[in-house]
Amino acid sequence: MDKKAMYRLSYGLFVVTAKEGEKDNGCITNTVMQVTSAPNRISLAVNKENYTHDMILRTGKFLASVISEDASFDLFRNFGFQSGRDVDKFADFTDVKRTGNGLYAVTKGTNAWISAKVIQSVDLGSHTLFLAEVEDAEVLSDSPSATYAYYQDHIKPKPEKTKTVGWRCRICGYIYEGEELPADFICPICKHGAEDFEKIG
Ligand code: FE
Repeated sequence: MDKKAMYRLSYGLFVVTAKEGEKDNGCITNTVMQVTSAPNRISLAVNKENYTHDMILRTGKFLASVISEDASFDLFRNFGFQSGRDVDKFADFTDVKRTGNGLYAVTKGTNAWISAKVIQSVDLGSHTLFLAEVEDAEVLSDSPSATYAYYQDHIKPKPEKTKTVGWRCRICGYIYEGEELPADFICPICKHGAEDFEKIG
């Protein structure tokens, strides 16, 4: 089996936000899709390592802001490469607005947002799959939606030449030093697994 075939699947990119009590949080994901149009339902798979995952599980609500091609790498750094357990991702991030259901929508580097109420959760081991009813939505700009491939080619900084022998995370660029990458390794930055690493050096 050539697992590289999996990279030929096309994905969008989203900032998924949640709110629990006074705490707002968000993470980057490529796993939002519409599953039915009448009723209007979407699905979202979230890695259990993400703090946002626990918040969605407990509150039953989330909002997906659709990342567009004019997004900066800072957006990914802010929401993708740090944990809401350690930092307030909205402390210095002001390109947001409070929507009708109380959740933040990201208003810069995005072209729309969709808020939804969870109707079913499926435990998939590493991830939970949320099925959700769309409650509200808004178009923010005409900038095209960023695909995962567009992020790889145009938004993510080009990797520096390195003599380090190891493995590089294809998602965020984190480098694991060593000949062999443990099969159960999880990127400490973006939480993707060993299958998303490539050999370098
Ligand atoms: Fe990573």
